[in-house]
Order: sequence, then structure tokens, then C-alpha cells
Amino acid sequence: MKKAIVLLSGGMDSATLLWLAKREFDKVWAISFDYGQRHQVELKYAKGLAELAEVEEHIIVKLPIYESIKGSALIDESVEVPSEDYPENEPPITTVPMRNLNFLSIASAFADALEIDHIGIGVHALDTPYPDCRPEFITSAESAINAGSILTAKKKVRIHVWAPFLGMSKREIALLGKELGVPYEKTYSCYRGTEPPCGECPTCRQREEALQGIL
Ligand SMILES: [Zn+2]
Repeated sequence: MKKAIVLLSGGMDSATLLWLAKREFDKVWAISFDYGQRHQVELKYAKGLAELAEVEEHIIVKLPIYESIKGSALIDESVEVPSEDYPENEPPITTVPMRNLNFLSIASAFADALEIDHIGIGVHALDTPYPDCRPEFITSAESAINAGSILTAKKKVRIHVWAPFLGMSKREIALLGKELGVPYEKTYSCYRGTEPPCGECPTCRQREEALQGIL
């Protein structure tokens, strides 16, 4: 039986990944994180999506450590989410230190305990300014997970960090999602966390561009 646990933020990329996982795997779990993010409202959307996708279980993990970390616009209230485009070659101010390392390590604990051999993460080509979204990070995380896994040690089962969007643009993800029937109107991406979304932050604009003619 093919099983996957998918990192679900409530945004368009992870929603598409969840719908793709439903097509590719027999049993699918979702995991979301409450890390004190400015756009905490995304968790409400994540819950709705997990329900619609009829996952085995939607695990929500609290990560209060990020309350103590300053300097990122997503977790530090004194730092604003910019309106101008993110820089192309350096980590944007919206980078949360080691977020994906923490997310993957926690997801891998559930994967190990539940004997799930795929951990899905929706990183894509536009995410590369974020260091923990780069292909070399994904590969290294997978190696570390397998080196420390009970499942791997006991049953020789390899745990895969499944990142099928790595080489894809956001537009390509949206087109795939359209084919999969992803309910994009039930996803949320704004980094400012307003309802309705601000429409101005780079994340809002990237989403709008990708979903043009789809939503
Ligand atoms: Zn926004």
C-alpha cells in the first residue's frame, strides 16, 4: 500500500500537492504547523482542504520555538512583509530560519511511527531564494531522515522526501491543479494574513499570476 504524509500550509502549492498525493497514493495524511505565523489564518484553510481531501488524519503541530526567533517578517511583528518583489538571489525577509528542516523532521517522526514512506513538500522553482527550499536541501534532509529512521533500520524501507514540484513554475503547478480539480478558492496564500488577502504582497501577486484564468 502506498502512503504519504503531505506538508499542508493551506496555500495553492501544498493544496495541489495534496490533491496529487490523493491521486498517487492509497492513503494520505496531512500535517500543518502553527508556528506563530503572521498569516495564521492559513490554518483555517488547511483544515478545510484536509477535510475536503478526506485525509486519514490532519495533524496540527504547535511550534512555539519561533516566538523566540526574531528578524523574519513572517514571525516577527516588528518586521513588515514588503510590497516589492522578493530578491532573486538571496533569502527574502520572509524566510523563517530552518522552517522546512523543522517541518520535515517533525513530519518524519510521524512517518516513522505510522510507517509512511513518502513525505510530500510543495517547494518549487520560484522558491529557490529560500535556502531550505533548494534541491540540495531536500536531498540532504532525505539522507538525514533515512539515517535516523526506525522504519529504515528495522524494515529497510526508504523514506522519500517527495518534492514533485521542484522543477516546476507556479503556473505549471496551477495548471496541474486545474486538471486535478483543486478548489483554489478554498486556498489562502497572503503573507500579511489579512482577510480578504492584501493583493499587494509578492506572495499574493505570484498567486494571482499563477492562477490567472483558472480561479
Ligand atoms: Zn498578500
